[in-house]
Amino acid sequence: MGEEAAIHIMGAGLSGLAAATLLARAGKEVHVHDIRTDSGQRFDGDFQALENWSMDVDFFDQLAEWGFDASEFKATEFDVVDLIHPDDTITQAVTPGVAYRIVERGTSEHTIDQGFKRQALAAGAQIHYKSRVKEEDCTIIACGPKGTSAVAYGEIFHTDHPNHIGFQLNDKLAPGSYSYLIIIDGIGLICTCLWRKQKKSDRFLNETIAWYEAHYPNLNRKPIKRVGGKGDFTINRNYKQDGRYYVGESGGLQDFMWGFGMRMAVWSGVLAANDILGKGDYEADVRKHLMPYVRTSVANRWLMNRVGDRTFKMMCKAWMRNQAKRGDGLIWIGNLFRPRWYKSILYRIVSPFMLQSDPKAMGRGVRRMPFRKALKRDAWVQSEAAAAIGKEWDAARRKGGATSFTDDAETTNDEQSEQAISS
Ligand SMILES: Cc1cc2nc3c(=O)[nH]c(=O)nc-3n(C[C@H](O)[C@H](O)[C@H](O)COP(=O)(O)OP(=O)(O)OC[C@H]3O[C@@H](n4cnc5c(N)ncnc54)[C@H](O)[C@@H]3O)c2cc1C
Repeated sequence: MGEEAAIHIMGAGLSGLAAATLLARAGKEVHVHDIRTDSGQRFDGDFQALENWSMDVDFFDQLAEWGFDASEFKATEFDVVDLIHPDDTITQAVTPGVAYRIVERGTSEHTIDQGFKRQALAAGAQIHYKSRVKEEDCTIIACGPKGTSAVAYGEIFHTDHPNHIGFQLNDKLAPGSYSYLIIIDGIGLICTCLWRKQKKSDRFLNETIAWYEAHYPNLNRKPIKRVGGKGDFTINRNYKQDGRYYVGESGGLQDFMWGFGMRMAVWSGVLAANDILGKGDYEADVRKHLMPYVRTSVANRWLMNRVGDRTFKMMCKAWMRNQAKRGDGLIWIGNLFRPRWYKSILYRIVSPFMLQSDPKAMGRGVRRMPFRKALKRDAWVQSEAAAAIGKEWDAARRKGGATSFTDDAETTNDEQSEQAISS
């Protein structure tokens, strides 16, 4: 230290903190800057899933190999999920292993964000909150989404229902996407993802909650707050440009099909740190380890954009048939996410039409998946049950329930997202 230039990281989220930890442990002077008041504030108590099916290696083994302590945050393992078909049939996907782990995002002590923050601080990194820095002055750009390709919108509530997960493919409630129910230790989340831009988007969440209430009658739901955020899905010509490393969502390193991004965020932070420490080549490593999955997900997303409930139903049936044959519900879903030669060809054919160039990307050749327009079938009026849930939320809000989506600092500059969430 001392004579060596300090390393500045823009963003104290998962990717930035992962990189900061490894760099500080190697003796570098590291400063992490975040515009918010704390790590995880962007998510405000949202539950997210660390998927464990897309690769042969367990993500927690990867974390241990990279030197991270997963016991620093709470992670609840699941080996079963209710798979909710678009015609409301409910089957169960089951695995003998760990299907995924649910973690909380936010500022509470047990969240994954705080777990990574503690490890970065223990390593000696200095974190500066409410600190606005210029991209040009930082070595690692880890500040999450810039544009909007999709949004997710959820309600967090108290419940006395036991821990449970439901995953629903339903093009009406979650246009082009899926909704989910997560219950961990008395706290529930019902969330819907919108892969098409909507007017009056509250109705999608209200209607989704109404659906879960009707099919899971013992939820005994008491709303606490509403959360949500946007996802930015981009393919970049350069992941390292002018000495700067673009990691996590800032590098578009996410699953385009369904939005899983935490694993790639941490992984890309590790790869950037390794390059700085002379133990790798970021550009080459991203292409080798992450891009095959990202490209596969682009092909998957293209396919998803072309289908509706009929194909979602076929997918659910194929998934369950495969599980009956192979004895493991993770195999079918794992295959969907894994790189295949035909997905790679499909990627080459469709990506020029599917992605739009971002002129503000400082010459990095960023192509973004645009937030798609609504379809005719997205124009519907919410049911009475959904309207009642909307009113119930209004009452909860008057008593102090907060909506954190609109606090998303990036979002306030982004007209697209503003429109997406306006009711
Ligand atoms: C609602 C929702 C649900 C999701 N669910 C899942 C899921 O179930 N599983 C999964 O794997 N992924 C999920 N994702 C995606 C996942 O959250 C992201 O891929 C992941 O958080 C990206 O990590 P990151 O380090 O790039 O960004 P983040 O962890 O978001 O961190 C970015 C940080 O940069 C800060 N920042 C922003 N702008 C600036 C600036 N100008 N200067 C300095 N700092 C700045 C932010 O405050 C933030 O702290 C979800 C995303 C959303 C929105």
